[in-house]
Amino acid sequence: MIPYAKQHISEADIEAVVNVLRSDYITQGPVTTQFEEAICAYTGAPHAVSTNNGTSALHLACRALGLGPGDILWTSPISFVASANCGLYCGAEVDFVDIDPQTWNLSVEALRRKLKNAAESGKLPKIVVPVHFGGLPCDLSAIAELSKQYGFAIIEDASHAMGAHYQGETIGSCTYSDITVFSYHPVKIITTGEGGAAVTRSGELAERLALLRGHGITRDPTRMSKSPDGPWYYQQIDIGYNYRMTELQAALGLSQLTKLDDYVLRRNDLASNYAQLLESLPVSPQFLPTDRRSAFHLYVIRLDTDYVRKPHRQIFEELRHSGVGVNLHYIPIYRQPWYESQGFRPESFPQAERYYQQAITLPLFPDLEDQQVEQIVLALKQVLA
Ligand SMILES: *Cc1c(COP(=O)(O)O)cnc(C)c1O
Repeated sequence: MIPYAKQHISEADIEAVVNVLRSDYITQGPVTTQFEEAICAYTGAPHAVSTNNGTSALHLACRALGLGPGDILWTSPISFVASANCGLYCGAEVDFVDIDPQTWNLSVEALRRKLKNAAESGKLPKIVVPVHFGGLPCDLSAIAELSKQYGFAIIEDASHAMGAHYQGETIGSCTYSDITVFSYHPVKIITTGEGGAAVTRSGELAERLALLRGHGITRDPTRMSKSPDGPWYYQQIDIGYNYRMTELQAALGLSQLTKLDDYVLRRNDLASNYAQLLESLPVSPQFLPTDRRSAFHLYVIRLDTDYVRKPHRQIFEELRHSGVGVNLHYIPIYRQPWYESQGFRPESFPQAERYYQQAITLPLFPDLEDQQVEQIVLALKQVLA
């Protein structure tokens, strides 16, 4: 079975991790700092805070922006559950903005309408989390315009989009957002096994992110409520967590980062091969606006259900039987039983519903071969015939 995603690990990656094991530090230490500096250099953001996974980076981002009970967070329903759960961890309410039928990202039009209604009913969100679905950046400048008008903060969920560009800028520059979050799970663009990071232009937010990553503990006397009892002294001045990244993870990340642009280029090449080969089939790929470079975390197609006779599920199953490890990203978050029990109704999100009935994720990862892409498209042709 050709998997839908797979990490690429080189001998240099392995050596980097082994070197850390032979060193004095194996959790958050000098290599973690180097990795954070390298993330800053790559993205152009002045501050990076590494974490043990992307979900905890989202949680820290919400906490750093002061999200709490009585507040509201909005995100896209076509995402991994973590994009929404981070709001619930903080005791806030979560709601969804329907997707754009072409880019499959959160729809700016739907956002504008929902904000207008929310302003009238006094239920504006404190935070909006645009997700760069499949690696394709959202229309950030339009979302930033709305954030000025309605006063919400922006956390970019860039778990899929390390190495993507928006209007010539690297995702993570935070030109249009307060904080951008990355995931380094093995299926993502680069990996640390498990891992994540939050980047920001704000020194104040960076300080809060770092404080909350480590239990809310400070060793800085200027931040303490009284002078230290002695050299051993530290104070817990907020309630935080243990969300630290290890040196093993950071060493892997640092080594992977040197290959990020190669990975993204290879993913883009494979995606254009797919697009060409799929042209004559009743399927459509994600629409790519010309002012953006996708990191192509995922290669998703939608079945043109006006022309395709077989049910979506049957096509999915037949592809798996023919050795193509297709997947579906994602089940709309509001369809999860936990969210359903909060009263969400599918009818509120017609575009996400339509998407869910048509979407199939085809395999895409740097080591996928051109000839395998042809094989996958051939299998799809046969299944659709
Ligand atoms: C992977 C992912 C996350 C969470 O990342 P983890 O590192 O697995 O915790 C969050 N949001 C999206 C959209 C993701 O795909």
